[in-house]
This record gives sequence, C-alpha cells and structure tokens, in this order.
Amino acid sequence: MRVMLIRPPAKHTVESEVPAAVEAENLSYPPLAILALATYLKAHTHHEVCILDAQLDNLDYETLEAKVKEWAPEVVGITVFTVGLVDCLRTVATARRCPSVKHIVLGGPHINDFPKESVGLAGVDAVVKGEGQKPLQLLLDAWEKGLTPRGIPGVVAHPDDPVPTEDVYFSNNLDDYPPLDLDLIEYNRYYDVMGEGGIFTTMVTSRGCPYRCTFCNTPRHRYRVATPGRVCDEIEGFLAKGIKEIYFVDDTFNITNKRVHELCDEILRRGLKFTWTVRFRVKGVDRPLLEKMKAAGCHRIQFGVEQGTEEGLLRLKKDVSSAEIEHAFALCREVGVRTVAYFMIGTPTERSRQDVVDTINYSIRLNPDFVMYNILTPFPGTTIYDEGMRDGVLDIQPWLDFMRQPHEDFKAQVWDEHFTRDELRDMLHMAYRRFYWRPRFVARNLAQIRNPRDLLRKATAGIRLLTAD
Ligand code: SF4
Repeated sequence: MRVMLIRPPAKHTVESEVPAAVEAENLSYPPLAILALATYLKAHTHHEVCILDAQLDNLDYETLEAKVKEWAPEVVGITVFTVGLVDCLRTVATARRCPSVKHIVLGGPHINDFPKESVGLAGVDAVVKGEGQKPLQLLLDAWEKGLTPRGIPGVVAHPDDPVPTEDVYFSNNLDDYPPLDLDLIEYNRYYDVMGEGGIFTTMVTSRGCPYRCTFCNTPRHRYRVATPGRVCDEIEGFLAKGIKEIYFVDDTFNITNKRVHELCDEILRRGLKFTWTVRFRVKGVDRPLLEKMKAAGCHRIQFGVEQGTEEGLLRLKKDVSSAEIEHAFALCREVGVRTVAYFMIGTPTERSRQDVVDTINYSIRLNPDFVMYNILTPFPGTTIYDEGMRDGVLDIQPWLDFMRQPHEDFKAQVWDEHFTRDELRDMLHMAYRRFYWRPRFVARNLAQIRNPRDLLRKATAGIRLLTAD
C-alpha cells in the first residue's frame, strides 16, 4: 500500500506557556518517531512509504491537502502529541478530503498515554499504542487484503477491540531497530540554533528512564539501550551523508557513566569526527567523563535543573542536590563543554514572587550558556498531576473533555495554587529577559558565530526571545 506518515502542522498547539520563540526553534528537529517507522516499513515490508513534515515548511492546510492529493496515499499515519490534538484532527479532516485515502491511523505519545480517550476520534480508523513498527505492518497487510483488522497487539481498529493497557515494544534490544534512513526526509534542512551551524540530525541511543521525577511521564516507558557498536554504525552512515552535528535525544543519556564511557571509546576508536549534544542528569557527572566526552566531540550538555532549592528539588523528586548541580556546571565550564539549563517556574514550592525571582537568580548564577524556562504544566498521568488532584489544585475533567472534543481555546492547567496564569506568564518573560539581556550573554554568543547562516539563525532566535510576549 502507499503510506504517507505525517507530522501535522503546529498551528493550534495547546497554550503551553512557553514563549513562541522557544517553540519555533524546537520545530527545526527531524520527526524522529515517524522516521523510525518509515525506515522500518521501507526496509522490511513491500509497502511504499513517504514522510510529510508539515512543520518544516509551516504548511497551511490548503497546501497540506494539495501535497497529500499529489502523492495519493491509500493510508495516512499521523503522529500525535496531546498538545497537538487540534492540528492532528484537522490533518485527519484534510486527508479525508483526498480521494485516494482509504484509511487513517494515529500513533505517537498521545495515543500511548491516552488510548482510551483516542478511540473513536472523528475520521480515524485505527490507533496504535506503543512502538508502531510491527502493529502498523500487520495493520497495512490486513487492509491491503481487504480484511477488517482484529486482534493486532497494540492496535484498536474495531469498536469491539479491547483498548491496550500496555505499550507494545518492537524489541527490548535497540540494536534490532534498523538504522534511520535519512533519505526519507529532507535531512539537510533541519538545524540546531544552538549548534555549530553544520548539517544536523537527531538520534537515540537509549529509551526510557528509571528515575521518577514527578512532572515527567518517561518513567512509564521501558529503559532500553543500543550497544556502542550499533550506535557508531548508525553515526557512520550519517557522517557519510555529510552530517556534522548530532543531538542524542535520549530521555537521559547518562543513566550510567559506564555506558557513556564505552560509547565515547568507540567513537574515538573509529575516529568519528562530529560534534554532539546530549540530555544529562547532573548526578554522577565527573571530570574524567566530561573530558572523554569532549575528546569524542561532545560540545553541549542539556541539564534538567528545574529548581535551585533543596525543597523544590525534593518536591519534584529530582534526586539531586543543589551542590551537585553547581559542581556539574562548574566542571563543564572548566572542561569546555557548553551547557543548557532547563528551569521550571510556578512549582508547588514557589509560594511568592520572591521565590520565583530566587529561581531566576539561581539560574543566572549557575552561568549556563543557554537557559530554557518553562511554566510547570502538569500533564495527566504524571505523579505531580495526581498530587494536584489530591490537593484540590488540579481538575482532570477539562483535560478529558479536551481529549474527546479537542478545541482551540483549551488552555492546559498550570499549578495555580500561589499565582494566576497571568502572573506566571509575566514572570516567565521576566526570566527570559533577565537571562538573555545581559551583555555577558550577548558578547559570549557573538564570539561563537561561525558563518553568515549561523549569524542569521542566532539573530532571528535572539530577536524572537527578546521580543517574546
Ligand atoms: S525528567 Fe529526566 S531524569 Fe527525570 S524521570 Fe524524566 S527523563 Fe528521567
């Protein structure tokens, strides 16, 4: 069958209290999940597959419809995030107007987290919970034979199918997944605004996380890793296509230092030349690890710091101390690895404006190269959401209503025990302005600009940040 996998436009994303400037930059990453699926279908089935990334060119729905009609798929698969439900359903309606399209299937994080609420969405023939490689293959095979798909693990394609409670996993061994086929996307058009300016892509070397931060839903997913040899094989394929920078988007890259050491050893042994970025926990960061990572090409580490007080860290179950945070950032600066710090504003332990100002001051004192502030937005299914319901701060019903009838005016609940939404938003923008309006920050970044394209991207991102409202 002809299968088009679509990343929908991001025109009606649920207000997430992240400045549009920051969100805009996030759209420049490849659509990794559907790329993995398309890679599998292309490598292991006879089905013909293509990817349409509607976010890459910020497509409007008219253009999206024209593109679907032009390629004329029989099946459309759409990846869904909860915050993108409105755009997902508009994409479904758009695809339905295309005469070739017989079936529409949804997958992705929203379906994984809320399968029950997703069954029966208008215009949708099937949903897949968990990793879609095998389920999608079986679904396509059934549709191709004109059968009504029933009993496919992880799939609901019939009103009488039970809603899966567990995710389906393609394998417990990430080595079993085929290396990403970058030819399925316009891989040389994605970029990293904080990067070095070369052709950039993302990949994973592990999935899931055994930690239990209360605001995060990753712990629900199984922790699995790929071997250093398999990771480096995939990297070699990327380098052969001219990729210069890789962002390893593992949920947490350094669950053990041993794994990171082994991967760096393999990169060094093979002499692979590229720069890379990872998402790290501060726990366990030491000089030998950082020095080896730097030697292997790591130029930036992103840390989820979130809070600067012991009380705040404890409440979010971060399992780190502020001393460990400061030690990790100081070491990175000494070794020469750039840092990004993620902070949260409006957590249960920030009870006054001064508490939030203290968080901002802490983030500046930490002296990362970049910082990202978010307003804590508890998502259903996370521990903090349960705590909010228990304490009478949050109410699940608006979320359930939205999931069944997505609409543009929905606003995700914030933790509004101590501040109104407007107050939180005001403090969020104050945080960005205070961090990025410092002469020290501007001077440091001007010194790191490498070429005119890099200048243009950084200037655009900077102007967006400084004028965010
Ligand atoms: S926030 Fe990071 S460290 Fe904490 S549970 Fe989620 S992925 Fe793991």
